[in-house]
Amino acid sequence: MFNLFAKKHKYLNCPHLKSSIHFFYYGIKTCCANAEGINFYKDYNGEKIDWDYVYKVRQDKIEEINSAKQADYIPLECKKCFEINGNLSDKKIEKFENKIQRLYFQNNMSCNAQCSYCTFEREVGKGTKYNTVPIIKSLIENNILSENAVALMSGGEITISDEFEELMDILLSFLKSKIEILTNGIIYSKSIEKAFVLNRCTLIISLDSGTRETYKAIKKVDCFDKVINNISNYIKMSESAKENITLKYILVDDINDNIQEINSFFNIVNSLGIKNVRIDVDFNKYTLNSNTKVPNKYFDLISYFNNIASNLGLGVEHCNQVDVILKKNKK
Ligand code: SF4
Repeated sequence: MFNLFAKKHKYLNCPHLKSSIHFFYYGIKTCCANAEGINFYKDYNGEKIDWDYVYKVRQDKIEEINSAKQADYIPLECKKCFEINGNLSDKKIEKFENKIQRLYFQNNMSCNAQCSYCTFEREVGKGTKYNTVPIIKSLIENNILSENAVALMSGGEITISDEFEELMDILLSFLKSKIEILTNGIIYSKSIEKAFVLNRCTLIISLDSGTRETYKAIKKVDCFDKVINNISNYIKMSESAKENITLKYILVDDINDNIQEINSFFNIVNSLGIKNVRIDVDFNKYTLNSNTKVPNKYFDLISYFNNIASNLGLGVEHCNQVDVILKKNKK
């Protein structure tokens, strides 16, 4: 008999599963989510990559999702992922081609700062087990990388990686899209300068402060003036840098979680002429799956931040994960 109360079958139709590749410090996998994601090579040390095998891992996982009996089946590696709800589909997942549409570089875990909120604190100093330049060349030679692929680079600190400048050259000449880079901005990079001149890159820099003292208290390095100077120099080389640099403010308990520091931050934003800002919470402390509550005052500080940005006519970017964490914590 037809069961009116039967759960409607949902399939996890996640684009990352089908077409993303994430170069992580220990291995190569589908995605950068807060969940494990699907591993292609869990302990990778630079061996030759079998792209047919990578495609097969994706197909097998999709097959597993399509043939699940349970209506709300989610693979173990994806459980707890904040992307799940947006990627549930009523239909089975159709065949897909073997093309990479998103590259995420996070193979280098070394850093020239020691931010108090760093999610990869324990990995910092481990350096790099493998380089990505040979992998990108192999993807291009095998016609697996889409020219329109999105490239996102973070770390550790990507600009201190030995292969960074060469990697940027390859990506700038092969891809058509803008390259997104999360950096602390301490190193001035000639290839980032070139990318700005070509209007081919965006930077997200966590400044987290408007004063040298607060910067140093959070990042444990005295590089506030250097970062501001580097940003000014990118802007001197190309006006597009004003639009393409986002200055980020991660709220850190008892250090920058106050109105005075937020005001100082906006003074810097204004004097540089930067057009986009972003406010985040400390992912190390306030995770989706932990019970540590976001302090109530965060909601006021975030509103205050957003109001100033709006009054100044600035764009405010939001991280999906922050939205989900805040929603979970809102009374
Ligand atoms: S649902 Fe999340 S963990 Fe699973 S493939 Fe997509 S992004 Fe990765």
